[in-house]
Amino acid sequence: MSDKLSRRDFLKLAGVGAASTAVLTGCGPASRSVKREPYMQMPEYTYNGLSTYYATTCRECAAGCGLVVRTSQGRAIKTEGNANNPLNLGKTCARGQATLHGLYNPDRVTDPIKRTRGNASGDIVTWENATQIVADALKNNKPEEIAFLMGMAPDHLFDLVADLANSTGINAPVRFGALNMFESRATLSKAAENLFGEAGLPFFDVGGAQVVFSFGANFLETWLSPVSYTRGFAGLREGQTKKRGTFVQFESRMSSTAGKADEWMPLRPGTEALVALAIGRLASELRGGSMPRAFADVDPLEAASKSGIKLETLEHLAEMFANSTGALAIPGGTALGQSNGLAVAEAVLALNAIADNFGKPGGVFFSALAPNQTEYQRSASVKEMQEFVQQMADGKFKVLFVHGLNPIFELPASLDFKNALKNVEQVISFATFPDETALESDYVFPDHHGLESWGYQRVATGSAQPVLSGAQPVVSPFYNTRATADVLIAAAQLASGKFAEALPFQDEVEFLQSKISPLMSEADGFFSAADIDTFAAYFQQYGGWWKLSDGRAVPNSADVLNRSLSSAEAEFAGEGEFFFVPFVSPTLAEAGANKPWLQELPDPTTTVMWNTWVEINPVTAEELGLKDDDVVTITSEAGVLEVPVYRYPAIRPDTIAIPFGQGHTAYGRYATALDENGKIIKRGVNPTDLLGQHFNEAGDLAFAGMKVNIKKTGKKQLLSRLESIMGVYGVGLGEEK
Ligand code: SF4
Repeated sequence: MSDKLSRRDFLKLAGVGAASTAVLTGCGPASRSVKREPYMQMPEYTYNGLSTYYATTCRECAAGCGLVVRTSQGRAIKTEGNANNPLNLGKTCARGQATLHGLYNPDRVTDPIKRTRGNASGDIVTWENATQIVADALKNNKPEEIAFLMGMAPDHLFDLVADLANSTGINAPVRFGALNMFESRATLSKAAENLFGEAGLPFFDVGGAQVVFSFGANFLETWLSPVSYTRGFAGLREGQTKKRGTFVQFESRMSSTAGKADEWMPLRPGTEALVALAIGRLASELRGGSMPRAFADVDPLEAASKSGIKLETLEHLAEMFANSTGALAIPGGTALGQSNGLAVAEAVLALNAIADNFGKPGGVFFSALAPNQTEYQRSASVKEMQEFVQQMADGKFKVLFVHGLNPIFELPASLDFKNALKNVEQVISFATFPDETALESDYVFPDHHGLESWGYQRVATGSAQPVLSGAQPVVSPFYNTRATADVLIAAAQLASGKFAEALPFQDEVEFLQSKISPLMSEADGFFSAADIDTFAAYFQQYGGWWKLSDGRAVPNSADVLNRSLSSAEAEFAGEGEFFFVPFVSPTLAEAGANKPWLQELPDPTTTVMWNTWVEINPVTAEELGLKDDDVVTITSEAGVLEVPVYRYPAIRPDTIAIPFGQGHTAYGRYATALDENGKIIKRGVNPTDLLGQHFNEAGDLAFAGMKVNIKKTGKKQLLSRLESIMGVYGVGLGEEK
C-alpha cells in the first residue's frame, strides 16, 4: 500500500465505478518500495487462480493508448485496451498486445553496466555507483555540454528533464523517433501554420466522414495514432447515416491501408500536389461560382498526364468529393516525405475547404492539447536531428544521455550518428534492451520495462477529449533495473545546488503527483478529488485523467482558398531508374523486431515473416529476369543493400518498396540472426541505409525522394511467408521451385 493511503481507504476507492471495480491500484506491484519475497508469502491481492487487473499505458509507440493488464500470481498475462480511455476505448494494435514479449524478453539489460564501446558485454556496477556517475556528469560539465536525447513520447520523464534543463541551463531535451520521420509531423504542423495561421497537429475525423481521400497517410498501420484512426475507419464503414462511407487512397504502392480502400490510385510519385489541386479545381467547377485562387493555376489535363491517373478518373473523383456532404482529405506518409512535401500537405488540406468541413463532424480540427499542455510540442525533424548530430561531431557535447530511442538504428545511416558519438566524451544510455546505441555507450543504466513503470503520457492526437494516460507498475520489476526518473532525481540531489533545487522530490511518484495535482481543481474532469492521495489513486485506477468535453480547436480557414498553392512536382535524388518507397512495417515498426509474436505475425500484404523483402512489380521483375526470393542489390546515392525479391502486383512498375523494421545488428536474439559459425548477424536490412540527406521545406526528410537501381546477384534467399508455395518455416527450403 501507499504509505499515505490506508487499506480501508483503498478498498473504498477500488469499489468506485462498476466498470472498473476489478482494476486495482495503490498496492502490490504499484507500491513504492517492493519487498522481494518467495511466493510462499504472496503479496496482498495475489491469490492462486485469481486474476488481478491494472490500468496502465502502452509504451510501444508514442500514441499513448490505455491498457488494462491481467496479472496472475505476480505475472502479467494479457493486455487489453482500457475501455475507459477515450483515445483507444478498449482496443489495441498488435504491438500493444506484444508488449508482454518485451517484458519477458530474455535479452533485457538486467543490471547497470559499465562498458567499453562496441563490446557486447560489460561490468556490472552498483546503482549507488551509477547514480554518482550521473551526478558527476551533471555537475562536472558546463550546462551547454550536457544533452539529453529522448524518445518521441511526450511523457513524464520528458517533463522531468525539461524542468531540469529549465532550471539549470543544460540543453533542452530533444525528442525523436523513426516514426516521426515517416509521419513528417513537422510538415503537417508547418502546413497548418501556413494555411490557418497557427502551428499544430491536425486531427482528421475519419469516423464522422462519408468520403475519405487519403494521400499517402497509412492511418490503419502506424500513422500518428493507429488504434484511434482504425476506430474512426470502423465508424466510416458503419456510416453515421447507416450508409457505408467510401475510402480512396492515393499512393504508388498499395499499403495495408490502401488494401482497405474502395479505390486505389497508384499515381506517379511526386505528383500528389498536382493531383490534389486538379481534383480541387474540377470539384470547384462542379460546385459552380468563381474559381478559388488556390486551384486557379492547375491544369487537370497536365495532372492526368504527369500522374498517370486518367482525366476521366480525376473527374469521377472530383464528382465524388464535390457531391458528398461529408468529404475529408488527409495528407500523410510517403506523400509528405518528398522534396515538395509541404506543398502536398497544403494542397490536400486545402481540399477540405471545398468540403467546408473545418471544425465539423467528419472534418479537420486541431488535435486537442493534453491536460497541462499550452501548445503543441513537436518532436524533432530529421533536419533538426542533423544539426544535433553535427553538434555531437563538433565535440559540443561532453555528455549525452539517451533514453527511449535507438538513434543508430532509427536515423538514416547517412547522418552518421555512430561516428559523431565518438566525439562525445561520455555516453550514458538508459536502454531496457541491448540495442545498437546502448552498445556504443559507456554506461547502460537500464530503465524498467513499461509494464514495471510509473508515469504518464500526453496524448498528442487521436482523441477529441484532452487525455493524460497514466501508467503504473503491473508487476514488480523482474531485474535489477531502476526508473530513470528515480536515478535522475537521486543524482540531482547528489549533485546538490541548482540540480537539487530543480528536482526537489523524494522519488518519481512524488514528482508525478506534483505534476498531476493541478488537475484536481480543473473543471470538467473525468473524476476529481479533494486531496492528492485520493486523486492519484483514482489516476492509477482509471489509467489516467481526461476531460469530458471536446478539446479540439477549429482551424481558421478563412484564407485557405484565397492563396496561391504550388503544384510543382517533387525532385528525386540519385540517378537510379526506380522510385524508392521505404515504408514502416505495420507489424514491427521501429521497436518490434525483438518480439517473437511480431516477427511471427505475417505482414498484412505479403505475409512475409522474420525478414525483409523488396517489392517489385511482376512486369518489372520479368524485364529484369527476377523471380521471388532472388537476391538483388539496391543502390542509391547513399548506400547499397542486398535483399530478396517479392513480386508484388500492387505497386507501380517504376517503383520499388522496402519495409522498415528489420536490419538490426544488436537488440537481442529475435531481432538478429546467427550465421553458420554462431556469429550474430543482421536479420533483414534497414532501408534507411539508402536514404540521403534531402529535406522538404519543413525540415522533414524526403525519405520517399530517392531513386535507386536494381541488380541481380544470382543468389537466392527463401522468404518464410504464409502464402508461400514453399510453406512456412522452411518446409521445402533448398528445393528448386
Ligand atoms: S497504437 Fe501504439 S500505444 Fe496504441 S496499442 Fe498500438 S503500439 Fe500501443
